[in-house]
Amino acid sequence: MMANLSQSQSGTRPGLFLDRDGTLIEEKHYLSRPEDVELLPTVGETIARMNSLGIPVAVVTNQAGIARGYFPESQVAKVHARLDELLAEFGARIDRYEYCPHHPVEGLGDYRIDCDCRKPKPGMLTRSAAALQIDLPRSLMVGDRMGDLEAGANAGCHSSLVRTGYGSSISIDFDHESLRFLGAFQTLKEAVETWLDL
Ligand SMILES: [Mg+2]
Ligand SMILES: [Zn+2]
Repeated sequence: MMANLSQSQSGTRPGLFLDRDGTLIEEKHYLSRPEDVELLPTVGETIARMNSLGIPVAVVTNQAGIARGYFPESQVAKVHARLDELLAEFGARIDRYEYCPHHPVEGLGDYRIDCDCRKPKPGMLTRSAAALQIDLPRSLMVGDRMGDLEAGANAGCHSSLVRTGYGSSISIDFDHESLRFLGAFQTLKEAVETWLDL
């Protein structure tokens, strides 16, 4: 796949989609305070490597704590600014953040909608792909829950699980007919290396 990077057709390229909580940073149950952001091992170096390879990186995160009224939507930008700060220490950069503030049942007011972005729906991935000229079939979604893997499948990407966050204890359900599952990995680095070697 790497050989194709410089020869991509029609201006598209493979991209990396990353869940946030439990995948990039410690899972802290509706995290909303910047001071609670803690990077997981290998995340900084792995994203820096993607940056140097010219592979766009998009964070796609369900934030139903907003819909549920646990924290205001304005906290999300503060958390992402803190994440950017921690990644900068590794020379690493996220190209795009997408979050879903909705919940179809538990949401308050306007946040209670059956949106197209809440994973396992693929809306955040397809929007990022359009914005960053990403070729979905060559791309990878990494997360710590089945909903992440399914979102990757629903977008037509490969999917990999990390055994951090909820991923340390879940069993994998292979029932999704279009799941292109690459495996369960202890770190983001291992998940990404397996994909780059395809
Ligand atoms: Mg997660
Ligand atoms: Zn949504």
